[in-house]
Amino acid sequence: MLKLDCWRGGDGSLSQGGRIKEADDRSLAEVWRKFGGNLGQGGRSRASGAKKPGMKEREVLAVYQIVLEGNQVLREKSRPIPAINQAVIRLLDNLRDTLDSTETGVGLAAPQIGIPKQAFVIRTEEDGYMEMINPSILRAEGQEEGWEGCLSIPDMECLVPRATKILVRYLDRAGQERELAAEGYLARVIQHESDHLAGVLCVDRAKEITGK
Ligand SMILES: [Zn+2]
Repeated sequence: MLKLDCWRGGDGSLSQGGRIKEADDRSLAEVWRKFGGNLGQGGRSRASGAKKPGMKEREVLAVYQIVLEGNQVLREKSRPIPAINQAVIRLLDNLRDTLDSTETGVGLAAPQIGIPKQAFVIRTEEDGYMEMINPSILRAEGQEEGWEGCLSIPDMECLVPRATKILVRYLDRAGQERELAAEGYLARVIQHESDHLAGVLCVDRAKEITGK
């Protein structure tokens, strides 16, 4: 069963105007209370020891609470990121950390941590981490149905028709423009995460919905 993305961070207003830092700090305080035990050392734990493959060497893990359906930020159109700076790099790192903190998550989009900016992170066994900034799906071919879960909509699964093959253009964390042709599972995950940036949830597209 496909387990897709998602979370919640600051209140949307703090992330306006590039004030990601303040939003981050406030959200982190909330999160440490909630996840402190899981992280092993309370509060800000060191990312040493049992790291997952591909995880960066960093001192502080930034795990956010995931925004749940019903929060308006999930319905906003996320803003493009005009330039790659430290705040953007940190956003990507925070997305990775929070995604890693979930048992089953495959992808996580910035609005799911309360930051309506156009970025998401995907983690798959085959491809490792993929980070996409300002993604744009240039071409889409074919259609197939598949079951999706969403970290923002726990306990629910949706049967969603998606394009079988896509071509997506995006910026990576170095600010390099890239294009990727994806199909099947990866194409589905990219479409799910791209929808988040447009304020669309899988339930909106579902032909069938089941509880778990
Ligand atoms: Zn989702």
